[in-house]
Amino acid sequence: MSSRLFYLPDNHGYVLFDGPVLAHMYEHAQTRWFQREAGGQLFSPTPQDTAVIISHATGPYTSDMRRRHAFVPDARQATDDRHRHFLEHRHAVGLWHTHPEANPTPSAQDRATAQDFLSEFDGHMTGFLLVILGNKGQPFNLAVWLAQMNNHSNWVRLREA
Ligand SMILES: [Zn+2]
Repeated sequence: MSSRLFYLPDNHGYVLFDGPVLAHMYEHAQTRWFQREAGGQLFSPTPQDTAVIISHATGPYTSDMRRRHAFVPDARQATDDRHRHFLEHRHAVGLWHTHPEANPTPSAQDRATAQDFLSEFDGHMTGFLLVILGNKGQPFNLAVWLAQMNNHSNWVRLREA
């Protein structure tokens, strides 16, 4: 499975999704009418580098809230995952989830979830990624936003290379 690369704004570098992370997300693409949204967190060993490599994706879990048109990760499980990955020197850099649409855009619920997620970080993060996987495309359409800390209206969509 090949990786995918998205440019950060202002030539600050790029975000690279490793093949296994993509494969994990693709498995949950909502290509059938009965499939519910899935998602979780994204982890990187290089969150401060020019090349932000996304090496691991967690979720979904049975304790998440999963509907056809909604996904809210279980906060306690998310905290446990952050501790587990931190011990292996990986940092949470964003959230991923699926949408039952070809070209996904964030819902009001997604923005609220993102804000909750950011508030867990005590100001250590200045921004994070919100990634939504669509159900069409070859490979599946992947929409990646960079959300800025303390200004959740300032979301920048990253351009795929
Ligand atoms: Zn959503």
